[in-house]
Amino acid sequence: MKYGAQTEVFKIIPGLQEASFARLGGIHRNTFINSPTLLDAQMRLKSRPNIRFAGQITGVEGYVESASMGLLAGRYAAAEILGLTIDPIPQDTAMGALVHHITGGADAKTFQPMNVNFGLFQPVEGLKNGRRGRKDRYKAYTDRAKSAFVAWVESQKR
Ligand SMILES: Cc1cc2nc3c(=O)[nH]c(=O)nc-3n(C[C@H](O)[C@H](O)[C@H](O)COP(=O)(O)OP(=O)(O)OC[C@H]3O[C@@H](n4cnc5c(N)ncnc54)[C@H](O)[C@@H]3O)c2cc1C
Repeated sequence: MKYGAQTEVFKIIPGLQEASFARLGGIHRNTFINSPTLLDAQMRLKSRPNIRFAGQITGVEGYVESASMGLLAGRYAAAEILGLTIDPIPQDTAMGALVHHITGGADAKTFQPMNVNFGLFQPVEGLKNGRRGRKDRYKAYTDRAKSAFVAWVESQKR
């Protein structure tokens, strides 16, 4: 909603007729590339692998997601420069699920910036029938994610 329209609506609320509003709501539009088409799993341009993308421009939404995609791109770049091999971050981790989504899992035709969410995770074995509650399912996802992440970090120490 435009600022004027927001002010009009808020002033309908009893007691706010004379209010002045220090800050109104705003939406933002992200600049992003079509990562499912353009990037490989290590966030390099498929057509020019010496160019790597990081952060929001890769098609993620939010501070944490942008920072995560920056961290990941940085680690991949550092490993490449140092001549080290780095295992792809497991898809069972939040960062892995997100990078998998933007670089391959998402439909390129309808691709839009994505927040991290449980819908990006692969189903946990034994939970497919949905009989367990949401709390249990989310705990199963996060338990699996934590151990996969720790194992991935450990694997880089060799
Ligand atoms: C109005 C607004 C509100 C938001 N609110 C939230 C929120 O509440 N919570 C949330 O999680 N996220 C929010 N976001 C999203 C969040 O801000 C972004 O996802 C995040 O800041 C992206 O970080 P980034 O480092 O990837 O990119 P950016 O923060 O966009 O950083 C990119 C940098 O690159 C620089 N740059 C661009 N082109 C060049 C060039 N050619 N050469 C050199 N430098 C260049 C830019 O100047 C900029 O400093 C909001 C965004 C906006 C616009």
